[in-house]
Amino acid sequence: MLMAGLQKNSFIDYPGKISCVLFTTGCNFVCPYCHNADLARGEYPQRLGLDEITAFLRSRRGMLEGVVITGGEPTLHDWVVDLCKAIKSLNYPVKLDTNGSRPDVLDRLFQKELIDFVAMDIKAPLEVYGPFCRTPRIHETLTESIQLIMGSAPDYEFRTTCAAPFATRETIEAIARTIEGARCYVLQRFNRRAACLDPEFNRRQDPTIYEDEMKRFQTLAKPFVQRCIIR
Ligand code: SF4
Repeated sequence: MLMAGLQKNSFIDYPGKISCVLFTTGCNFVCPYCHNADLARGEYPQRLGLDEITAFLRSRRGMLEGVVITGGEPTLHDWVVDLCKAIKSLNYPVKLDTNGSRPDVLDRLFQKELIDFVAMDIKAPLEVYGPFCRTPRIHETLTESIQLIMGSAPDYEFRTTCAAPFATRETIEAIARTIEGARCYVLQRFNRRAACLDPEFNRRQDPTIYEDEMKRFQTLAKPFVQRCIIR
């Protein structure tokens, strides 16, 4: 088990908590707007072992309120279950960021009660995932993850990065329908200034969704979910 890195403090990655963030490498998706390109491609050096992570967490008792595991895609690594077990044994709440492509791993984590919060990205309506992922039958896999999360996660949110041309009024409403009844749906602003997995993504067209349109998205999604926020 080797992690790519550790961000020692974050006020934004775990809702309501001061957390640290652990980064895994490798991703099975190819989202053109991904801001963690080196991590997603698995090109970032892996250098942090479990002993170093647990030593750090012991030293931060009373200061940190939670641990975020992100990527890349953390569930690609079966050892994420052991990592969560080690973190929970130190009494830290765990938040997992995922693209939802490994419902089997999510299920194991829920059954063992090793996760406190899940944030699952939903890139597009599930039947049009082509620009993000070429895995066959991803629609069914993601549906399974959504159902698992809504049924078993102690707390959760679904998130969509709002970047043109993918985020439109139609796609946002379709996603909101798919997660009907969900506790929280987050519409994430796209940061145009950061580099993307597809280096041309920012240059082909302006991917920014401006504030007025973000608010329209929120109005469209709100009726389907318990809470819809812009972040
Ligand atoms: S945005 Fe997330 S799911 Fe997409 S390529 Fe990057 S790490 Fe993978």
